Amino acid sequence: MLSNPDNASAEDAAGTSNGQLPSTEQRDPAYFSYYAMLQHQQNMLQDTVRTSTYRSAILLNGPTCFHDKLVLDVGAGSGILSYFAVQAGARKVYAVEASQMAQKMKKIIDAANLPSDHKMAKNVFLKDKIEIIQAKIEEPDLPIPKVDTIVSEPIGVLLIHERMLESFLYARDKFLKPGGNLFPATGMIHLAPFTDAALWTDTMGKARFWEQNSFYGVDLSALYNDAKDEMFGMPIVGSFDPRTLIASSTPGGYAIDFYTITLSELQDFVIPFVWQSSYTGIIHGIAGWFDLHFAPSPLGLPGTGIDMTTSPLAERTHWQQVRLLLKEPLAVNAGQLIRGWLRCVVNEMRSYNLEAELVVGDCYLSPPNAPEPLTKDYNRRRSKWQLHEQTYNYSYYPQPDVTFRPEYNCLYEPEQSLDVTVVVGNDIEQDPSVL
Ligand code: SAH
Repeated sequence: MLSNPDNASAEDAAGTSNGQLPSTEQRDPAYFSYYAMLQHQQNMLQDTVRTSTYRSAILLNGPTCFHDKLVLDVGAGSGILSYFAVQAGARKVYAVEASQMAQKMKKIIDAANLPSDHKMAKNVFLKDKIEIIQAKIEEPDLPIPKVDTIVSEPIGVLLIHERMLESFLYARDKFLKPGGNLFPATGMIHLAPFTDAALWTDTMGKARFWEQNSFYGVDLSALYNDAKDEMFGMPIVGSFDPRTLIASSTPGGYAIDFYTITLSELQDFVIPFVWQSSYTGIIHGIAGWFDLHFAPSPLGLPGTGIDMTTSPLAERTHWQQVRLLLKEPLAVNAGQLIRGWLRCVVNEMRSYNLEAELVVGDCYLSPPNAPEPLTKDYNRRRSKWQLHEQTYNYSYYPQPDVTFRPEYNCLYEPEQSLDVTVVVGNDIEQDPSVL
């Protein structure tokens, strides 16, 4: 799925201009008219990392999960995953797509269903294999039987934006046979602290406009705090230099198992983290990205596991990465632990409200559902963001630079190497070999 279909249309603006939050349902017309456009489907198709990973996952698991099976494609778009499923041997694919893109997909299927010797016949391998259903998957009474395998690409920025994972789980609960397969199987969210003084200063510069006390003779400063909340509350989507990460993300990330997670668990969840700072430097915020894992049902026959990452260290994807700036940066010394959590709560904008707390050293970490402690602790930061209020930063282009040193990013290496630590969830275990 795309970076931010919800930022794309005038209807979207109309939904919010009367001061009332539009419900997720009310947002459907804007959302689906975005996906009805070939250019937006094309952007996803041309993401080679994404499209080729799905194809490998489907074809390599063809014998176990697709050959002679019934398959459901949730949010089929141009139909690409349905076509891969047929290439992997599917007996029949139900391609459910709510937007008008279903009509475009129909042109491909109509051409495939012509007699094979017809001069307009195309893609004869698809003949009589695909049934297009133009509907939201949540609509009652869809003519879909229980299927062996569900394929879908319900993934937004930071995995969860757009809330289409809920449609994927809805389809799982309603249409998947016991022991059936889900593609993808798992999503892993990664978080890590980053430094970027220029980005922070640029954002602060926008907020400082509202600090002035004589703008054409008017004092705007009553809005300065609101401006800071707004500017720093906007997640920044784009690639960035991985050398600006101050610590590694928790190994494995925060896993969301699509086979087992419930709809309600996806409405409000907390990602805990413990990072060990690799440098002395200033944390300006939290960077986030995700991985996808594809595998047949844990209950079924063994198959081939396939992984895809949107890490800043890997080839770029159309999802890029996201960065959440702190209103007030936080200083750390090399070797120090940074503990915290990110809470993700669904909102009516097809997205999530995010809140995080970070503490350094011994500072008390307050629980996610508790208000921020009243006493100021200079080793604690709390911040909030709205995942749908995305802004874009495309200033980074990877350049091989062998002479690059961490201090160019104002990150300072410790003179002695750090003790090795093994991070397991919230528990830090020291490697016994270095004691
Ligand atoms: N599967 C395609 C398209 C992925 S984009 C591909 O991989 O290229 C997600 C698609 O799901 C969009 O075309 C969108 O219109 C559709 N969609 C989103 N929510 C849906 C829902 N609840 N029911 C049916 N289609 C949905």
